[in-house]
Amino acid sequence: MLFAYTEKKEMISASEIDENKNCFCPDCGGRLVRKAGKIKIPHFAHVQNIECHGLSEGETPEHLALKQLFYQWGSRFERDWRIEKPLSDLPQRPDLLLDRLAVEIQCSPLKSSRLEERIVGYSQKNYQDWWLLGKKLWPKEKFSHLQKQFCSFDKDRGLHLWLLEEKQLRLLYHIHEIDGLVYCEERWPSFSQPLKEILHFSVSKRPPHLFPTIKSVTERKQTLSLKLVQSNAGIRELQHYFYQERRHLLYLPDWMYFPSRYFFFYQEDLLVFRYLFEKERKNASLIFQKFLDYRQANQREWLFYRIDQREILERLYLEAIFCQRKAKVSSA
Ligand SMILES: [Zn+2]
Repeated sequence: MLFAYTEKKEMISASEIDENKNCFCPDCGGRLVRKAGKIKIPHFAHVQNIECHGLSEGETPEHLALKQLFYQWGSRFERDWRIEKPLSDLPQRPDLLLDRLAVEIQCSPLKSSRLEERIVGYSQKNYQDWWLLGKKLWPKEKFSHLQKQFCSFDKDRGLHLWLLEEKQLRLLYHIHEIDGLVYCEERWPSFSQPLKEILHFSVSKRPPHLFPTIKSVTERKQTLSLKLVQSNAGIRELQHYFYQERRHLLYLPDWMYFPSRYFFFYQEDLLVFRYLFEKERKNASLIFQKFLDYRQANQREWLFYRIDQREILERLYLEAIFCQRKAKVSSA
């Protein structure tokens, strides 16, 4: 950490303090030692290796550097940025704080339960939380469980994720899985704009169009049958479900194979949702319940801690209405 308490509980920076002064952890009260070197950013560490959960993680040089960068960047435009400030109403200490905006810069993996706890804590006390991932955690061809946990969702940006490195801040948005991962991107060089403006930036690009065509249906079925042959684990459960329903995964009504904006969330399980949509005659709460029962029975966990699943289910429902209509129009 970059700041500590003095004996009088005053916050003091690791770059200001003189070597011999006693200093303490604002979270657990434990003794801290100051560390500095030619390449190291001056910082504090616990004298003993204790379990202290105040700050979000063990400090890596990358984390210290990005935290400092973000603080300097923010302070250039807005005066009230605070770094590592203990909160009066929550036993959590965000990396940075601006009024009720809590910023967390994540540079190394974090236990799911710890992350969930922090996200819930912020939301219960009405803090807006802004999570950014350091370079080691940036997504590659696929999103890992961890990356999904840091995604947010809103109407304008769709599914999105913030990334940070020394030279820039990146926003990946309208993240979709359509024949692999696709997304739009915005980048801001360091110090180019106030951070609050960036956080509330309204994106210009629209989500990709999904065209439900005969070809897309055929291709979808081909992919599914290939996965069946390969005995892909997720598909086996799906096949079993439809078998019990006396249906076959590859012989459902065409509209159920239409591409979905929400594929990223549920993958092939979307077929179960759409099947229930038709079977339960659009009774939304029953569809949601049965779909979630199916997901739970097959250990499909909701990994998007920062996204209300109910909202996604409602959108899926609207999309199903749209797809069904589209199918009727084209067959008429
Ligand atoms: Zn501590």
